[in-house]
Amino acid sequence: MRTIKIFDTTLRDGEQSPGCSMNQEEKLEVALQLEKLGVDVIEAGFAISSKGDFDSISNIAAHVKKPIICSLSRALKEDIEASAGALAKAKNKRIHTFIATSPIHMEYKLKMTPEKVIERAVMAVTLAKSFVEDVEFSAEDAARSDREFLVRILNEVIKAGATTVNIPDTVGYQTPDQFGDLIKYLMENVNGIHKVDVSVHCHDDLGMATANSLAGVLNGATQIECTINGIGERAGNTALEEVVMAIKTRQDLFNCKTNIVTQEIMKSSRLVSNITGSMVQANKAVVGANAFAHESGIHQDGVLKQRRTYEIMDAEMVGLKAAELVLGKHSGRHAFGNKIKELGFELSTEELNKAFERFKALADQKKEVSDKDIASIVADQVYHAPEIFQVHYVQVTAGNTTRPTACVQLIRDEETLEGTATGAGPVDAIYKAIDFILGEAIDLVDFSIHSVTGGTDALGEVTVRIRDKDRVFMGRGSDLDVLTAASKAYIAAINKMLSFRDVQTIKANV
Ligand SMILES: [Zn+2]
Repeated sequence: MRTIKIFDTTLRDGEQSPGCSMNQEEKLEVALQLEKLGVDVIEAGFAISSKGDFDSISNIAAHVKKPIICSLSRALKEDIEASAGALAKAKNKRIHTFIATSPIHMEYKLKMTPEKVIERAVMAVTLAKSFVEDVEFSAEDAARSDREFLVRILNEVIKAGATTVNIPDTVGYQTPDQFGDLIKYLMENVNGIHKVDVSVHCHDDLGMATANSLAGVLNGATQIECTINGIGERAGNTALEEVVMAIKTRQDLFNCKTNIVTQEIMKSSRLVSNITGSMVQANKAVVGANAFAHESGIHQDGVLKQRRTYEIMDAEMVGLKAAELVLGKHSGRHAFGNKIKELGFELSTEELNKAFERFKALADQKKEVSDKDIASIVADQVYHAPEIFQVHYVQVTAGNTTRPTACVQLIRDEETLEGTATGAGPVDAIYKAIDFILGEAIDLVDFSIHSVTGGTDALGEVTVRIRDKDRVFMGRGSDLDVLTAASKAYIAAINKMLSFRDVQTIKANV
């Protein structure tokens, strides 16, 4: 039976999606989880794009040993050298280089003739090959490229030493029949294609990324590029959990397997969602909160009599535990530690102690502390950038007859900074007071508040997104007091923004 390689690009393509920026420690944590999940390749970043990306790839290369670590590069000398440098410490390394091959990209974006594009691709692969044995070439926008031209360029890059050729549907334009047919055509017409890995990289603009990737596999592809929860540019990439579970559940049809430890899927999904603040929709295939919930009486009755009546996968197969153990004020540190692991967090002893203190404080105020409460306080506490500013004091006067006024104190390096402002509402007043302290008007693009559980004593969780040039930063805060939660979330996003500011980034659209 064929084994399909899983190439995870959560840390590169996924991280490019608005609001999904991660810092170096967060990226390493995701990479370590991807190693447990059993992915074959981790695309850790785009080395030339920023110093942050370079350091992050280098950090992952030094700590993650099982999977192949990969860095993206345009077909340019400096890009490939940067990738080689960032991968220096990797046990298993791959340089991934790409150039666009569709008429529209070659003419308008690259302003290069097709001949020149081939020449550049061969140069890039040859140079990459001088640094590493394992070289992947991507024909960007392959799905909209001329088939005969694709055959020509792939013939040349394979001759130059490419060990994987990737066929991206960069803009998510294809349908499964068309895309499968393209792979079949390439398998039949490219010289030496059976000696290299053939990869597919699909985007979900029309909701067909999973279907297109699987059509690729049915027609000979040996590698799928995907991300956890399907995060990525625009509508996202192929979701790892979907292709993996489709191949496993329908082995009768696909007649192949992957190396993924499926029991780690749920944990990986929660980790990425907690770190990026990008929530998974409840009805999302495989990892959504409702993916294994049976609401209708007829379905429940059927499942009780025989699970297989309405279930095609076991929840345990993706790492979901059947019964939720509810913690309360008498729960100990050990039970709490186990629960945290189950929810997908890896904490140091110091972090665990801090989280446990917050849990105890919450358990004193609330009778039952649910999994959602715990995930919320831990995510709030653990995943943030260096605390450049901390919220020290928030006081708001509001009501139906007064103009909302806020007084906020922030701490930076032991210095207390104070601001007062009025606003259209209490949150607006707080944010204006913070802007006053910072001396700039922050561009708030999204604010959402939700109650973590039911009841008036529920934790309020606030998620904000702020924009700085072309980057969006997410911040989250939770507290029993929603205005405190709102302040924490805003400051968390601002801290992230400030720690990213000195870094110039280039975006890649593979
Ligand atoms: Zn992509």
